[in-house]
Amino acid sequence: MAVGRGHNDIRLASPAGSDRAFVTLVTNADYAKGATALANSLRHTGTTADVVVLHTGAVDAEDLEGLASGGCRLVEVDHLPLSDAFNERHARRNVHGAAPFTKGRKPDFHTPLDNFCKLRLWQLTDYRTCIFIDADAIVLRNVDKLFDYPEFSAAPNVYESLADFHRLNSGVFVAKPSKATFERMLERLDEPEAFWPRTDQTFLQTFFPDWHGLPVFMNMLQYVWFSMPDLWDWNSISVVHYQYEKPWEEDHPKAEALKPLINLWHDVYQGRAPDFYTLANPGNTP
Ligand code: UDP
Ligand code: MN
Repeated sequence: MAVGRGHNDIRLASPAGSDRAFVTLVTNADYAKGATALANSLRHTGTTADVVVLHTGAVDAEDLEGLASGGCRLVEVDHLPLSDAFNERHARRNVHGAAPFTKGRKPDFHTPLDNFCKLRLWQLTDYRTCIFIDADAIVLRNVDKLFDYPEFSAAPNVYESLADFHRLNSGVFVAKPSKATFERMLERLDEPEAFWPRTDQTFLQTFFPDWHGLPVFMNMLQYVWFSMPDLWDWNSISVVHYQYEKPWEEDHPKAEALKPLINLWHDVYQGRAPDFYTLANPGNTP
């Protein structure tokens, strides 16, 4: 079944199993790995919501196989119908040139333009509520209560200082699919000269200026582990989000500092339950 603009832009492989869904996005083999760990972690929470993987045609079928056999609902999406000028402004070299990343490093397999496909979530109108989670995150405990939160809810983008609380992080958010909202987004997104330095994240914060704040523990960014260790508390954290360097990258610059978090991710990727109860908070011995 195809719905929406152009009538060929989202393709649902199977029917919905619930009116609530966790949704992630995969545009290449690397993020398919990430989504595998995320889907494994959601399964361990015992959620009854669907797990939807939005994926582009660029992802090989074999990289999606494990997700489908693991019970995910695959939805193939096209890139958004955006102007050539918009796509040029948001090409990787231009985003990195105009708004350099100074705090961490984005992997080579990260394409900023692909991020905007997240907005396809608003086309999943057979769901009442969706919780989007980046493919580079894992869930440690049941977060189904987020389905009762309003649109638009997101956690703050905290990984360095209190000033971070002004901004949201779009790695976890609560949204209500709606064709009307999707159409309004497309119009706002591609206004003449519009430049969104942190892509969907900057856009969503602008589009929903009165966003509702989720607890920071609903999207705990990995850098908090070494930058703000006092904030880290395994008893409270529901979602760990591996922003910047990814846990499946070999020997990345932060790998040594983030070792316990990377080991946790690999456990979950391999299908084991996240065994964080035995982990110490940073700075403490177990
Ligand atoms: N994504 C993707 N392909 C890309 C870039 C991003 O599939 O080339 C998706 C994926 O779900 C990813 C999310 O968009 O988790 C946002 O990108 P990322 O997590 O790498 O950004 P960060 O959290 O480091 O800001
Ligand atoms: Mn992310």
